[in-house]
Amino acid sequence: EIPLLRFEHAAPGQLRALEAQLADTHRAFVAQGLALDLTRGKPSAEQLALSDALDGILDRHYLAEDGTDARNYGGLDGLPEAKRFGAALMGVDPGSVLVGGNSSLTLMYQAVLVAHRFGLTGADSAWSRGGTVRFLCPVPGYDRHFTVCEQLGIEMLTVPMTADGPDMDRVEAMLAADPSIKGMWCVPKYSNPTGVVYSDATVDRIARLAQVAGEGFRVFWDNAYAVHDLQDVRPLASIEAACRAHGTVNSVLQFASTSKITHAGSGVAFMSASPANLAGFKAFLTACTIGPDKVNQLRTVRLLPDRDALMAHMQRHAAILAPRFAIVLRVLEEQFAGGDLGQWEAPSGGYFVAFDTRPGIASAAVALAAEAGVKLTPAGATFPYGRDPQDRNIRIAPSVPSLPQLETAMAVFANSVKLASVRAALA
Ligand code: PLP
Repeated sequence: EIPLLRFEHAAPGQLRALEAQLADTHRAFVAQGLALDLTRGKPSAEQLALSDALDGILDRHYLAEDGTDARNYGGLDGLPEAKRFGAALMGVDPGSVLVGGNSSLTLMYQAVLVAHRFGLTGADSAWSRGGTVRFLCPVPGYDRHFTVCEQLGIEMLTVPMTADGPDMDRVEAMLAADPSIKGMWCVPKYSNPTGVVYSDATVDRIARLAQVAGEGFRVFWDNAYAVHDLQDVRPLASIEAACRAHGTVNSVLQFASTSKITHAGSGVAFMSASPANLAGFKAFLTACTIGPDKVNQLRTVRLLPDRDALMAHMQRHAAILAPRFAIVLRVLEEQFAGGDLGQWEAPSGGYFVAFDTRPGIASAAVALAAEAGVKLTPAGATFPYGRDPQDRNIRIAPSVPSLPQLETAMAVFANSVKLASVRAALA
């Protein structure tokens, strides 16, 4: 193999030889008729099976600790034991927790909708009253956050992610300059897709943003991967404590769920917010539902009765996921270290590895991988409106394929990136 990972000093002849070799490998992959998938970050069947004891765990005992019959209507903000579980998951006070249905994305969508249309702290606080509404979106980010904004007609402004979280100099400058920026998305731990954990300084600066932002500004703190460590438990500074210290408790809404802890389709979702925000949200929720699925709340806390049980359970997930991440990172290291064809962070948790190609290469690499039978998330999906202005970012989700499948898929991935890169250099 030609160990050529930097093109700037390569002679055209060398590049053409490399292209021919990579194209041969590509054709060999195509001939294998592979059907592999590195797209969505969902738990594998093996991970889902870790929680199969949920089924039947109540043994027809439906009473919650406060005597509530979980089978009946009511309990708009959740059972006390479920609030405690959510509080332990997010590292907040149980009194600040609302327990929702099966999806934290639903809670986030509803919270943005309430803030926009109805106002979280009274009708006068509705963002829509002030005209154009904008959100800060750290990129690359979670596509479904962007879909929420797009559907509600909220304009998205991007801000780059760094190894410490969003570029806070940019965030602060943008907020100070534009009071129509009413919100910001954050995935503070094992960020989707870069895997970055926000530094303590970043968390503190985010807690202070309300001091420079326009009226009604809210941070949507989506802690989807709060306990999804692959190795050691990585602590995340408490945004709630920082907000209390800075007098900005109304400026942050926190979210989490058990979707990637128990069964992804039937998890339990949580929101943590200040009393004022909770009151505004509940006024809306009362119009939507008489109450959430409390039977599922009860099943979940029976399966995972305390923080120790939760952390032991997450270690079993890690035992399944860690070898998959190890394959992805090993192949990237073997194939790209020391060159300039791609960059990535090595995450120690979450569900993704984000790979940045040279500018203008990502879509072509994704297309080549597809031709060779490896499905990747469409290039651009990690950016608002599906447009990566530099066409660089590719999200790799390794949880579902088996280990041998992942080896093959990553070999195809590496060859596709190299082939797309060399072809662009020759063009
Ligand atoms: N937030 C992030 C950052 C995610 O990556 C995901 C799922 O991939 C979700 C939220 C979805 O959470 P839920 O299943 O609770 O709606």
